[in-house]
Amino acid sequence: MKFDVAIVGAGPAGSWLARELAKNNISVVLFERSPVIGEPNFSSAGSPAYTVERFRLPPASVAARWDILRINGPTTTFSWRYDTPIGVVFDFRELKVLLLKEAEKMGAIIKLGSTVENVKILNDYSEIYVKSEKEAYRAKVVVDASGPSGVIATRLGMRKAIPIKPSVGLEIIAETPQAPIDVFRTLDFYFGRVWVPHGYGWIFPMMKPCVKIGVGVFQLARYGGGPRLEDFLNELIKRVPYLSGHHIVETHGGMLYGMGIRHHVFKNVIAIGDAADQVNPLGGEGIRHALQSAEFARDVILDAIAKNDLARLEQYDIRWRKYIGWRWWKCRILAQFFYHHFSDSMHDNFVRAVSKITAQEIFDALFEYKIWPSIHARLFKRHTGY
Ligand SMILES: Cc1cc2nc3c(=O)[nH]c(=O)nc-3n(C[C@H](O)[C@H](O)[C@H](O)COP(=O)(O)OP(=O)(O)OC[C@H]3O[C@@H](n4cnc5c(N)ncnc54)[C@H](O)[C@@H]3O)c2cc1C
Repeated sequence: MKFDVAIVGAGPAGSWLARELAKNNISVVLFERSPVIGEPNFSSAGSPAYTVERFRLPPASVAARWDILRINGPTTTFSWRYDTPIGVVFDFRELKVLLLKEAEKMGAIIKLGSTVENVKILNDYSEIYVKSEKEAYRAKVVVDASGPSGVIATRLGMRKAIPIKPSVGLEIIAETPQAPIDVFRTLDFYFGRVWVPHGYGWIFPMMKPCVKIGVGVFQLARYGGGPRLEDFLNELIKRVPYLSGHHIVETHGGMLYGMGIRHHVFKNVIAIGDAADQVNPLGGEGIRHALQSAEFARDVILDAIAKNDLARLEQYDIRWRKYIGWRWWKCRILAQFFYHHFSDSMHDNFVRAVSKITAQEIFDALFEYKIWPSIHARLFKRHTGY
């Protein structure tokens, strides 16, 4: 019942961190409230291809590779082609299953069906209380990787109590026998109110003949009780001809919060991934950043334990803030404009404008958040001649 590190949540962040710490001979216990390994399976899980090598992810977790990126406005469409597959779509469930298996092989203790309810911070360790278990677990360091619920971070006041305006997504995995072959190598986005008001739709490739079809709305609660994600999803399916005759394999969804985190570290507790609102606010990309935060956490935990000085955990906060810089803040402002204020004609103008930028520039804008140098500079050039 005594460990160096206790991790709450077996999402990508928690599973990856468990593997990495166990690999470094740290005793780790990981609690996951789902009784089924790999569940909940909710993410579209699109990412740049380099994520796989960068974080040494199991290659078998990749469901599809894409080398075409397509953006659709209400009446406009444009696609970019890459010389090699520049991105991947993970089988989100498989990603977690494989990471957990690797973690277990390295010596981590994985406890499924274990809901952490409370953490009590004592002098040089913490007690972790799991639902329906009488005895508490003890660990020198506790990592909150519990996703949007941020169960420990919220309880300790490290982040605001759940904000009332989460962004929400609904997705199906469907077999699409009529889809043209290019669909299985294309990351496809749908912007504009005719597609999804105050959000966007997507079709991501999986292993043929499956695709992920989803809709997400930015801060749904802003728009009263009106919008229904199911309606938007059905509308998207109706408007894309090759989706007729699709067969639903699975339906799932989830929530995203943003900017509620106040402190990433509190005494011997660290919050990583979505528990620390580390998902990018513009498009909702979170896996790569959850893994990055887990990597920072791994480094500071190894250092703090080696030097027997838990105050060194504070370095995590500094590293994360340096990593995001002003990018998340800028993306959030852009998201307000894009999802809240843009009309359909503005979305069409947006697609026309970005059609002038190169394949590398659109990739950098969507995945490296280099929004100003690419889109802005081009628009400026177009309108001023400079
Ligand atoms: C619809 C949707 C589509 C998305 N699409 C993409 C995408 O295309 N690309 C991308 O990069 N990101 C995407 N994201 C975001 C991405 O999935 C998340 O950022 C990522 O999963 C965060 O990982 P995490 O490990 O921090 O948290 P999570 O994946 O949320 O994992 C948290 C885990 O903690 C467990 N847990 C919660 N509370 C407790 C508790 N009390 N005790 C024990 N366990 C607990 C949960 O069951 C869960 O397994 C999407 C998100 C949604 C909702």
